Amino acid sequence: MSTTDLSFQNTSVAFAHKSNGDLVKARWLFRSFNFPALLTYGPSMAKAAVFLGLKFTIKKTIFQQFCGGENIEECNVAIQNLAQSGIGTILDYSVEGEESEETFDATCEEVLRTIARAKGNGDIPFSVFKTTGIMSSDVLEAASSVIEVNQIVDSSLIENLLSENLQPAWKQGYARFMKLCNAAADSRVRIFVDAEESWLQSAIDLMTTYAMETLNKEQAWVYNTLQMYRHDRLAYLERQVAEGKCHYGYKLVRGAYMEKERARATSKGYQDPIQPDKEATDRDYDSAVTFCLENHNRVAVCIATHNEKSSLLGTQLVNQYQLPKADWRVSFSQLLGMSDHISFNLSNSGYKVSKYVPYGPVLSVIPYLTRRAQENSGMAGQMGRELALIEEEIKRRKA
Ligand SMILES: Cc1cc2nc3c(=O)[nH]c(=O)nc-3n(C[C@H](O)[C@H](O)[C@H](O)COP(=O)(O)OP(=O)(O)OC[C@H]3O[C@@H](n4cnc5c(N)ncnc54)[C@H](O)[C@@H]3O)c2cc1C
Repeated sequence: MSTTDLSFQNTSVAFAHKSNGDLVKARWLFRSFNFPALLTYGPSMAKAAVFLGLKFTIKKTIFQQFCGGENIEECNVAIQNLAQSGIGTILDYSVEGEESEETFDATCEEVLRTIARAKGNGDIPFSVFKTTGIMSSDVLEAASSVIEVNQIVDSSLIENLLSENLQPAWKQGYARFMKLCNAAADSRVRIFVDAEESWLQSAIDLMTTYAMETLNKEQAWVYNTLQMYRHDRLAYLERQVAEGKCHYGYKLVRGAYMEKERARATSKGYQDPIQPDKEATDRDYDSAVTFCLENHNRVAVCIATHNEKSSLLGTQLVNQYQLPKADWRVSFSQLLGMSDHISFNLSNSGYKVSKYVPYGPVLSVIPYLTRRAQENSGMAGQMGRELALIEEEIKRRKA
C-alpha cells in the first residue's frame, strides 16, 4: 500500500482489536475525563479505592485502557493482542515513588527482566527505562550542573567534580545505567533512554552518548530521546551526528514537562528552554524527523508521537528515500490506549509500529494514569479526537 492510501480516519482498522463492549467502556472512560472534579480528586479517590479493596474497579477501567498489567506476565495478553496486528510492545515499568538505593536496585533488576523478555522476541522490539528510576534526581541535577558549568564532554570526569557526599550515589547510578545498556546490547535488544526535565538531562545525555559510542558500533542498540519542545535540541542532534563516532539512535518526542519547565525558568530567572509556541515545536520536530531520515545510513529513529502530520511526514520520507518499511531503523510509536487510529493504520500499511505498554502495581502507576487522564481532558484537546473516533466506530458498527 502506498502512502497515499494511508488514512488515519479508518476506524474499522483502528479498532478492529476492540470488541463492542471494549468500545463502549472506552467511550465511557474518555467522556469521564471531561469532568474537572474527577481530574482534581480522581488520583486521591483512586488511592483510597485501592486501600478500600476496590482495586478491581480501577484495574478494569482506566488501568485496563492505559496499562498492560501489574507485572510482565500479566502483559502477555496486551503483547499478543498488539502482535496480531503486527504492532510491537515496549514494556515500560512505570512505577514512580520513593527514591532510595534499594528502590533503584529493584527497578534496575525489573528493567533487566524486560530486556530478558525482549531477547530474541520479535513482538518486543525495544526496551526502555527512565534514568530517575535508577538514580536520584538530586545527583542527576548536580551532575548536570557540573557538566554545564565545566563544559564536560567525558562522563568519566564527572565523579571527581561532584561534592564528596554525592560521589557514591553517582557511581552506583552510572553503574546501573551502563548495566542496562550493556545488557540490552549483549541481548541484541534496542533500548530507549527516556528524556526527562532539562535540569537533569545533561547528565542523561552524557551517559547515553557514552553508551552509544561504545555499544552502537554495528547498529544502534542504545537510543537517546530528544524533546523537540526544547529550542536547543535540533542543533544538538545535528552536532552529534556530524561527529560521526558511531551509529546513532534517537526517539523523537515533543516533550512532556512544558508547564514545569516554564515555571522553573520563571521562578529561577533563567532563559526558558522551551520553544516560544507550538508551531516552533512542530517545526523543529518535523525538521528532526527529516534530518534523521536524510541521515538514515547512520541514524535510526523512532517517531514517537500522537501527531498525525508528523507521522505522515515520516511515511512520506520512508517512501522518498525508498527505505524498507519493514525495518525497525525507522519506526513509529504511541502509548497504549491512545491514538490507535495512528498505530493500527500505520501498521496496516506495513510500517514498523510499537506501543509503550506501561505496567506495575495499580497503586504505583496512579501518577502515570493521572497524567494520561489530564492529557485526555477536554482542556488538552486530545479527548475530542479520541472520543470522536470511538463514537464514529460505534456508529459504523451499528449501521
Ligand atoms: C512512545 C512515546 C514515548 C514518549 N517518551 C517521552 C519521553 O521519553 N520524554 C518526554 O518528555 N515525553 C515523552 N513522550 C510524551 C511526548 O513528549 C508528548 O508529551 C506527547 O506525545 C504529546 O506530543 P505529540 O507529539 O504526541 O502531540 P501534539 O499534540 O502534536 O503535541 C503536544 C505537545 O506539543 C508541545 N507543545 C504544546 N503547546 C506548546 C507551546 N505552547 N509551546 C511549545 N510547545 C508546545 C508539548 O510538548 C506538548 O506535549 C512520549 C510519547 C510517546 C508517544
